[in-house]
Amino acid sequence: MNETGAKGDIILAAPRGFCAGVRRALEIVETALSELPCPIYVFHEIVHNDHVVSELRSRGVKFVESLNEVPEGATVIFSAHGVSPDIESEAKQRKLHTIDATCPLVKKIHAKAEKFQQDGGTVLLIGHRGHPEITGTLGRSGADAQVVENIDEAAKLSSQIADKKAIWLSQTTLCNDDIAPIVAVLEKRFPGITGGGGICYATANRQNAVRQLCRECSFILIIGSPKSSNSNRLLELALKNGVPAQLINDASEINFDSLPAGGNIGITAGASAPEILVTKTIERLRNAGWTKVRELAVADEKKRFRK
Ligand code: SF4
Repeated sequence: MNETGAKGDIILAAPRGFCAGVRRALEIVETALSELPCPIYVFHEIVHNDHVVSELRSRGVKFVESLNEVPEGATVIFSAHGVSPDIESEAKQRKLHTIDATCPLVKKIHAKAEKFQQDGGTVLLIGHRGHPEITGTLGRSGADAQVVENIDEAAKLSSQIADKKAIWLSQTTLCNDDIAPIVAVLEKRFPGITGGGGICYATANRQNAVRQLCRECSFILIIGSPKSSNSNRLLELALKNGVPAQLINDASEINFDSLPAGGNIGITAGASAPEILVTKTIERLRNAGWTKVRELAVADEKKRFRK
């Protein structure tokens, strides 16, 4: 790694950017825009990216945080993060037409949580309290389900959980390095606990790509929203590996004062960040003297979900 000499290469992580679940959710909104009268209502931001959301807003999509904002009889799309059964029932009561853009991988976690709690078990959800994905899964996990954010919370869980079967599930966009110590505490406290689902393929691939970038780069730019869980995990991963990094919404936020004088600059993008933001980031770095661009691929991601 050259940190003091001439500017090195721009290294693009691959895979980066849109995952299959985000593509599918956006295709669902596009179809609704082409077939239904505006406004189209979407419950919660369809994906956590300000550029995507404001572009859709300009074309007639209304993002709502409460179904009260949707007129009776209108169509509402549920975001890629999924919703709880309460929201589905409320939509039914209010006679709304619903279109479900929940990622199929989140749906799989929903199904596991529902089955486990119906069989009398206790579901422990590792993730961020209040994140829409966790809220949706928690609503399907039964009255005694608990969210566990960290090892302290795992250590403080009621020992009565050991009286029943327990399962841990995690938010799809965490990092295995963070999940593992929490699971270790859960396994010690509740020896019969089983694991039913962790991070998704897209999260894992983007994190592996950042691990590789860290070996070759003096600095890493992560394109994604501060609201995006998977983008924040990419930032944390770079920093934990000792490589300075910045999370940017877009190229305008690059802090050139913090970029090293030499060495390679890595670029990646969270699962909800469009490729155009990567292109514009490359352009801006090129104008500042980083002229060579190459890709560092760790996986060939071909997964697609049908609408
Ligand atoms: Fe689905 Fe994973 Fe993408 Fe989330 S990050 S939408 S779980 S593929």
